[in-house]
Amino acid sequence: MSTTQVTRALFDEVMVPNYNPQQMVPVRGEGSRVWDQDDNEYIDLTSGIAVTSLGHCHPALVKVLKEQADKVWHLSNVYTNEPALALAQDLTRETFADKVFFCNSGAEANEAAFKLARKYASDHFSEEKNEIISFVQSFHGRTLFTVTVGGQPKYCQGFKPVPGGIHHAPFNDLDALKELVSDNTCAIVMEPVQGEGGIIPANPEFVRGVRELCDQFNALLIFDEVQTGMGRTGSLYAYMDTDVTPDILTSAKGLGGGFPVGAMLTTDKVAPSFNVGTHGTTYGGNPLACAVAGEVLRQINRPEVLEGVVQKNALFNSELEAINAKHHIFKEVRGKGLLIGAELVDEWQGKAGQFLAAAREQGLMILMAGPNVLRFAPSLIIPDEDIREGMAKLEQAIAQLLSTAEAG
Ligand SMILES: *Cc1c(COP(=O)(O)O)cnc(C)c1O
Repeated sequence: MSTTQVTRALFDEVMVPNYNPQQMVPVRGEGSRVWDQDDNEYIDLTSGIAVTSLGHCHPALVKVLKEQADKVWHLSNVYTNEPALALAQDLTRETFADKVFFCNSGAEANEAAFKLARKYASDHFSEEKNEIISFVQSFHGRTLFTVTVGGQPKYCQGFKPVPGGIHHAPFNDLDALKELVSDNTCAIVMEPVQGEGGIIPANPEFVRGVRELCDQFNALLIFDEVQTGMGRTGSLYAYMDTDVTPDILTSAKGLGGGFPVGAMLTTDKVAPSFNVGTHGTTYGGNPLACAVAGEVLRQINRPEVLEGVVQKNALFNSELEAINAKHHIFKEVRGKGLLIGAELVDEWQGKAGQFLAAAREQGLMILMAGPNVLRFAPSLIIPDEDIREGMAKLEQAIAQLLSTAEAG
């Protein structure tokens, strides 16, 4: 038996240093509250980066997970299973999609989407039609292909050579996109609201224009809804609140409510290009993951939950505006539903990390989206009292940071 004490310090000893987690270790969560090893309580406005969208340990999810745990855990794709089929049926019924491919993460869902787009173009047009266009500041995952499609070159540094045929246009700039798109474009991929890039919503006219360009050049439109999907912006998927329908949509994060699962959704037109043997993953469609995701979908896809997201957005905005009226710390508050970004004023740009640490000291968990933006992505069913209490803690954290800055 190991006698090592499991503390935050152990992380630096035994973990690959690609993360630098906060100086506390959460051990328990319930709803929008989390407790650390010393039993300090936190209000969680992160949901593990837009993942635990029904809060921690939602009783309905715990029940489904435990029931499935007593039935069957894993079968591989040599056999299909009931939870995967039921989830695929639900997703196709509730969305534009006719067909679903399951995997385990957002990056894998996007990897599948990009491969499918190339395969489809190769099947129906030519091998030369292989170019993928995405947008500056976009984020699509960390595999070599998805990180290259993402529009943040710093994440590719040191990993060259990277896959070719990938171009980036400025976001929300249709004219720039027109310069890049051609008959060799097989797909354009976009986030309806750029998440990691700073919580930047796409303009409605831009979204329409991207769809038109895709149609004009026989390119597929891929919506990366890994962060915006599953109710996060107030509709089941964010595309539903636009005038357009994508050809491929990727979902992960909130899909499993905390159980790792990803999905790529597409149409009967496109799906056949992934014929038997062309793509796959061992865990894809895992019964535990799909049973939980099925329940997440049932819980979230209800008018009262989705309308609640819109109402809670308004509460967040008014609370953040009140903080700003006092402290003049935000340049802009933006986002959609419960994916909210507060961009720091110029003096504080680059310092979002300090706010995370200061919030933690006050018993509050928040996120950043790049170095200049505080991000809030709480449970979609967070009680209004928890939002108010969380915002009170945020104000304390800000007041504290501002007073030490003045003193220093
Ligand atoms: C988080 C995220 C991904 C990557 O998902 P992983 O599960 O971390 O691989 C891809 N796209 C978007 C928009 C994301 O927010």
